[in-house]
Amino acid sequence: MSRSTSTLFVDLDVEVHPDFPLGPETWFGVGGRADILICPRSVEALGTLVRRCHENEIPLRVLGSGANLLVADDGVDGVVVRLNQPAFREVSYNASGAVEAMRAMAGADLARTLNETVRRGLSGLQQVAGIPASIGGALHMNAGGAFGSIGDGVHSVACLNERGEIVVYPASELSFEYRRTNLPAGVILWAAFNLQDDDPKRLRERVLEIFSYKKSTQPLADSSAGCTFKNPIDPATGERTSAGGLIDRAGLKGLRLGSAEVSTLHGNFLHIHPGGSASDLLRLIDQVRSRVASEFAIELSTEVAIWGRS
Ligand SMILES: Cc1cc2nc3c(=O)[nH]c(=O)nc-3n(C[C@H](O)[C@H](O)[C@H](O)COP(=O)(O)OP(=O)(O)OC[C@H]3O[C@@H](n4cnc5c(N)ncnc54)[C@H](O)[C@@H]3O)c2cc1C
Repeated sequence: MSRSTSTLFVDLDVEVHPDFPLGPETWFGVGGRADILICPRSVEALGTLVRRCHENEIPLRVLGSGANLLVADDGVDGVVVRLNQPAFREVSYNASGAVEAMRAMAGADLARTLNETVRRGLSGLQQVAGIPASIGGALHMNAGGAFGSIGDGVHSVACLNERGEIVVYPASELSFEYRRTNLPAGVILWAAFNLQDDDPKRLRERVLEIFSYKKSTQPLADSSAGCTFKNPIDPATGERTSAGGLIDRAGLKGLRLGSAEVSTLHGNFLHIHPGGSASDLLRLIDQVRSRVASEFAIELSTEVAIWGRS
């Protein structure tokens, strides 16, 4: 850690982990180290860190649950921030005075938050059942699927700007589209959701239904990040088409390069065998993209975030 990096946080209420192995924190389970991982204990400390990184032109990345993240084998530079301290995992109800509003900090676990809403008989998050994520990570890419996405129930989202100040965006200023939002780059701090009263038993059944649909169609036990590619727009129809379907029709299911393999169950799930490497997966991603491009003249782009040295 350089002297200039340590001056970023020396006086802040943070936990510091130099040379931190990131691979085990991701669902792929591979990849190198962060030069430095910082876990702030307060919003104030996080805000100051964000501002200082910006002023010193030091890249700052946020690690959520690592379920949509591939870290290169030689790791990442700059600062990686993890929102895993209690201040960033809080979930409060009646947050804006409305009976049904819930506010979740970005580091809260999505599945636990969903379970608690179901227990309280509150509907509005069940569409994201079975998606591993932190609240911040789920919002960052509007996680969702056949049953809806996390953006559906959003009331407002708070982010930190580059000066470390909190900016709150009401839903009327936000757009949640297929795997993207118009939230500014940077740190998502919390989100408030509109939830409706519902029968807990019926909600639980709905969650189980969605979860078992996912289980029957996706290889959830493999070391993957879910879908590797976004569903692209087919230029012939102007409609979104299934990336998994294209990969399947190109005959790529089961294709293996070193430790990385295309799932035989779902063409868009690329996974890594134990003891594998990120570079094998990056080669496989390139190979799949070029085979789909030459077969269908459609460019696939990755849904998975890929981190490497700048
Ligand atoms: C088995 C499996 C099944 C999956 N199924 C689905 C599915 O059905 N639908 C779906 O959409 N996804 C699915 N995914 C992918 C993944 O669950 C989602 O993309 C999820 O939103 C990732 O959240 P995370 O907290 O793990 O983010 P991470 O993987 O930690 O990070 C992903 C990106 O989000 C950014 N980020 C994280 N937190 C913040 C924050 N607070 N502020 C700003 N940026 C932040 C990171 O910097 C990074 O760029 C699946 C993954 C797995 C492993």
